Amino acid sequence: MRLRGSGQFLIGSPQAGQRRQVCSLPNQPLLVHTPAKLNLFLEILGQRDDGFHELETLMMTVSLYDTLVFTEKRPHKNSTHTEETSEEVSLRCFDAGYSGSCHRNAGSALRQNATEGATGITEVPDGRDNLAVRAAELLRSKTGCRRGIHIDLYKRIPAAAGLAGGSSDAAAVLFALNRIWQLGLSRDELQSFASEIGSDVSFFLNPQSAAICRGRGEIIEPLALPNRLHFVIAKPPSGLSTADVFRHCRLQDRSPGVGSLVDSLRRGDLRTAGQRLLNSLQAPAEELNPDVGRLKANFASHNTIGHLMSGSGTAYFGVCRHRCEARKAAARLRASMKHSDQVFVVANPP
Ligand code: ATP
Repeated sequence: MRLRGSGQFLIGSPQAGQRRQVCSLPNQPLLVHTPAKLNLFLEILGQRDDGFHELETLMMTVSLYDTLVFTEKRPHKNSTHTEETSEEVSLRCFDAGYSGSCHRNAGSALRQNATEGATGITEVPDGRDNLAVRAAELLRSKTGCRRGIHIDLYKRIPAAAGLAGGSSDAAAVLFALNRIWQLGLSRDELQSFASEIGSDVSFFLNPQSAAICRGRGEIIEPLALPNRLHFVIAKPPSGLSTADVFRHCRLQDRSPGVGSLVDSLRRGDLRTAGQRLLNSLQAPAEELNPDVGRLKANFASHNTIGHLMSGSGTAYFGVCRHRCEARKAAARLRASMKHSDQVFVVANPP
């Protein structure tokens, strides 16, 4: 199957071997792989009047993907409505699990490995509460478009993990439906809709893999970094609610800011970068969930350049010098952790 990169997304057609131009035919399903993110730096700068926190964060997408397959609905044969007015948004959610070698597989392979409503994704709602559905409905209400869509969502990004799987799915929906429904929206327009869905959604619509995000996360400064970074991520069985973690967060003295981390990443000085990782949400997350402290202690005993909780947790990651080091760290983590913990070896896209 042919996949093409478009910003953060990889797009293609789910029919294996298909070599057609993406989206060139009506009713042709469109497949989009959308990545997880890690926060290499996250500092809370203050509490705003609107209840949100003002923050500065360095986010980076990594090669752990959810996959969405979009199929346009045909109008019912007996319907008196036209295709423009007759259909709605529907979604089915599958647990696609994760395997380092098949995480970009699609079509029939995707379905064989996936389980509808499987236990791993019990936290992920199927209906209107799903951020993917909310994104599609928001597009319809903003643009007046009445066309329908069916979305099969194959989850691999653990939920409630600080990896922004839901936000990434929502961004993929905005991106894909703008094409499928031929809405002609600019990236700025899509990003303004994105920020209405959630603070992290806009980030996934920016074309660079890394960005400094400010405000409540929706003000994006894209960041070009010279080197590919390799990571090992571990996610314990328990999750954390983002709202809970922010509620327990106490303002600390300001750090020197994200600048010195960015400088060291630009110089390729990973050792210094490892010392500049920061997450203001980690202390409250450790108080709320002992699994986070357990992972921190586990990572401290491994040979990584630096380690940190991502976002509001509970996923925890180590920065590694190269893929081989990340794989070794993953093997040691798997051996020392409970069977139900998930461990991933990932990199940021080149
Ligand atoms: P962030 O880092 O942005 O705080 P997160 O990784 O902690 O995000 P998500 O996995 O994005 O959290 O989802 C948080 C909650 O949103 C889930 O517990 C789930 O109930 C709900 N949700 C809605 N839609 C989705 C989706 N498509 N995928 C995952 N979770 C979703």
